[in-house]
Amino acid sequence: MKKTIPLIFLLALTLNCLAQKKQMSKAFYQHDFDKALLLADEILKENPKDIDANLGAAKSWNGKIEYANAIPYLTIILENANEDWQFAWANIEMMKALYGLGQLQKAGEYYAKAKACEGTASSGKELKYYALLFGFDEYYSNWKTVESENIIFHFQDTSDTKRIQFTVKSRQEAFEKTTAYFGSTLPKKVDFFVWNTRQNYNEILKLNLGFSNSNYCVSHNRTGQSPGHELAHVISFWTNKDKKINHFINEGIAVCFDWNNNDKMAQAREAYKQSNFDLVKCWKGEAKYDNGILYPIAGAFIEYLKQIDNQKLLALNNDQSYENARLIYSDMLDIIIEQFYIKLRE
Ligand SMILES: [Zn+2]
Repeated sequence: MKKTIPLIFLLALTLNCLAQKKQMSKAFYQHDFDKALLLADEILKENPKDIDANLGAAKSWNGKIEYANAIPYLTIILENANEDWQFAWANIEMMKALYGLGQLQKAGEYYAKAKACEGTASSGKELKYYALLFGFDEYYSNWKTVESENIIFHFQDTSDTKRIQFTVKSRQEAFEKTTAYFGSTLPKKVDFFVWNTRQNYNEILKLNLGFSNSNYCVSHNRTGQSPGHELAHVISFWTNKDKKINHFINEGIAVCFDWNNNDKMAQAREAYKQSNFDLVKCWKGEAKYDNGILYPIAGAFIEYLKQIDNQKLLALNNDQSYENARLIYSDMLDIIIEQFYIKLRE
């Protein structure tokens, strides 16, 4: 009888730990990184070398875009792991953390280490996704890299030197103008990929072009995109990485700061004619519109807000919700929207 007591106790402890890990995992997938970190720390207090808890903590810090904090947990895993899948995941997260910190060469070394692991189906999928996003994948071996002061360009079409020069100059200029407006500081140079296609859907990335992943300061662009749209996403994000993002306002900012030499209000009028656009419903996410309608109207709206008050627009960028706009503009908001509709109908 005496022997069964510690066994039951051990079993209870193990079950408790398993339940905690399950909760940690659930919190992580719900993007509740703070809760996942608390749960991971509880497990690590009992067992500092626990692989699952160290990995959960590292993934959560990477999710919170606080990459430097992920590294100590990953170092513990790499020093104590004994299974291939543990090395695979730790190397992937290390690659992401170092890339986010702008240590590209070191990140590339961890990509190679992760690739050398057999891993699991899901770690393989994760590695492929980030290798394509970051430019480590072998697919990019023939691409041309050009570095400017703030941007690392990756060109698929390496033949058109004049076009490359124009792209580098115009995007660097766009970067400087947009950064001057938002006053943001980026943690690394923007990796700016220029795919040699005008098509939206990209078969290799399995995503629509262009897009940006601001967490890692990466943009993937089609040929012929505006100089500043994708850069504006990344730059406006880094005024405050914990900001509340709203699709209507965020796309409006990117269109407003695309540095295309065009009449944004005229384009918005054209889009408005083709739709029954409801600005407030769109802003609140209660109505959905095609990008061809939403983008020009959102861009003209942000340009209008910019003309009214720069400081207020900067405040809106940090919390883009309609509720925050109410606080910033108070009763003026209704008048602003009304005036904007009048301009749209001109
Ligand atoms: Zn956009």
